[in-house]
Amino acid sequence: MDKREKLYEGKAKIVYATDDPGLVIQYFKDDATAFNAQKRGTIVGKGVVNNLMSAAMFQLLGRRRVPTHLVRPLSDREMLCRRLDIIKIETVVRNVVAGSLAQRTGLPEGTSAGRRAVLELYYKSDPLGDPMINDDHVRMMGLATPRELAWVKRTALKVNAVLAPHLSRHGLLLVDFKLEFGRHRGRLWLGDEVSPDTCRLWDARTRERLDKDRFRRDLGGVEEAYQEVFRRVVPKALQALAGPAQA
Ligand code: 5GP
Repeated sequence: MDKREKLYEGKAKIVYATDDPGLVIQYFKDDATAFNAQKRGTIVGKGVVNNLMSAAMFQLLGRRRVPTHLVRPLSDREMLCRRLDIIKIETVVRNVVAGSLAQRTGLPEGTSAGRRAVLELYYKSDPLGDPMINDDHVRMMGLATPRELAWVKRTALKVNAVLAPHLSRHGLLLVDFKLEFGRHRGRLWLGDEVSPDTCRLWDARTRERLDKDRFRRDLGGVEEAYQEVFRRVVPKALQALAGPAQA
């Protein structure tokens, strides 16, 4: 698969065209940003962790009939993906109160969100800082059809039902996560990434944070946390793509 011109460069990833117009290559960088890019830095090795964890999670989800944009991992930092027309909605699923939900409700971080996960929608807009929206706003702005939105919400909860028990078997509490979906060939697919950048992952026993909050909150041990997640959740066959330094 030939890598062609750069189509888009985001905060953490670069998307390249390929010789197939329906496929793109997603390249994962070590660059880290937080608070709508007001805080910037580098997390050494992050791109490898995020690429290979995302590949592992997408492969698992694919086996459980969640359609994802992953075609196949290509290298330590690259995956071949279906080219999506991204829906401008960030879907967040929460099992435990943390981050902006703690701020919004006054509930302490770590409080259970209940047996039923909490689902939230945000408008994917850097200039506006990703504000929270509801179904009516989605309809008003024409971001997705009611049928698409129903599918997005149902699928986000299914992703949670697959990933939370899986990660728990690896000693990780899936506190919350953000998903993005897109259209390709007349249907919807899960896109973007599933990684310590987009999920809150706590050690199930100690509740130590093993995700991007270590960077956002200057907790130290950022690289070590990403490596720990890599060791726990990336299967050996995918770890081999990372080479000896990481594996
Ligand atoms: P919160 O709303 O508490 O800041 O974030 C909830 C969850 O969604 C966290 O797991 C967080 O990592 C993820 N999330 C929400 N928005 C973004 C975003 O714009 N970028 C990234 N990387 N993660 C996000």
